[in-house]
Amino acid sequence: MFLTIQVLTAILASMIMRSAYSLSQVDWMALLADCGASPFVLPFLLDGIYRSEAVLTKHVSPLLLEELRHLLDFSLPTITAQQEAPDGTVKFQLRFIDGLEVETVLIPFHKRFTVCLSTQVGCGMNCSFCYTGTQGLKRNLTSGEIVGQYLAAKRWLKIKTPRALAPSIVFMGQGEPLHNASEVEQAIRIFTDPKLVDLGHRQLTLSTVGYLPGLQRLRGFPKVNVALSLHSPFEEERRLLIPVSERFPLTAVLQELDQLPLLPRQFITYEYLMIRDFNMSLRHAEGLADLLGHRKALVNLIPFNPFPGARWQRPSMDEVDVFRAALVERKLRVMVRTTKGAEILAACGQLKVNKLAREHATH
Ligand code: SF4
Repeated sequence: MFLTIQVLTAILASMIMRSAYSLSQVDWMALLADCGASPFVLPFLLDGIYRSEAVLTKHVSPLLLEELRHLLDFSLPTITAQQEAPDGTVKFQLRFIDGLEVETVLIPFHKRFTVCLSTQVGCGMNCSFCYTGTQGLKRNLTSGEIVGQYLAAKRWLKIKTPRALAPSIVFMGQGEPLHNASEVEQAIRIFTDPKLVDLGHRQLTLSTVGYLPGLQRLRGFPKVNVALSLHSPFEEERRLLIPVSERFPLTAVLQELDQLPLLPRQFITYEYLMIRDFNMSLRHAEGLADLLGHRKALVNLIPFNPFPGARWQRPSMDEVDVFRAALVERKLRVMVRTTKGAEILAACGQLKVNKLAREHATH
């Protein structure tokens, strides 16, 4: 494929230009001052970018818009493929300007929607239950790319379901969010700023495997819901699932989580992947009760989602019920996550951009 000089110039320009979706309000104010524009234009500009384009043409001068277009990249990642599961879950393959791709999933739930965002291209944590982990880490996403994923999925949803409310966010796609803490923190600031994306703090959930250097920074982030991938109350077993936990022991991770200020009726979610013949015995139920019984904890049970080449097995629904009952008996708060999008490998731990997905894509 040959690219014209103009196309190449456009690609290079957007590679060095800062994404408009990576700017906080303070950044916008500084930029407007640099452009010699009045600060009073800011609310119209942000309304136009994040809510209604019509506001831009009505209230922002074309000259200023032209100047901003030379300074910032306003493009969103391109949807190169999409697959829709029978339960309504949609998995998008999104391409960034350098040609790398991630998967972003839109999940329907009782007339509301949630977008599962990626924070890295691939992932370096190598968890043994995760398809993404088999891909290795290619690079971190920028805050603009993280916000861009959300806006691309939201735009798609708006066309399909015009009356849909703004989707919530879970950082549970490709990547360990706290391994890319600075960019994820900035993205959260943009998501929760009422003048920018304007989501409520409780609409965002950050899920981590317990990457301690990132966890130690979490207290400085805007408030969000936090979920820890626990998967076993026993350190040595957990290491088989999450190799990095060898460097970041569970006791240190839990101590760090205990320091997070929680709102009334807010819990830390402990995700527990249920794997047949591995982590679903009475001993595990007792271990979980010892570990979490005195904490503000919600245990989220997730039946393992198989992927090609996986070494673990999914339990039957009867086995899930027995384990759940054992936890409830021990006075733990428990919920079982219904698997969404498993038919299109869009469920937890199944995301990995691959040729097969592209070939089976429905566009
Ligand atoms: S589970 Fe999360 S942290 Fe572990 S390999 Fe997969 S994407 Fe990375």
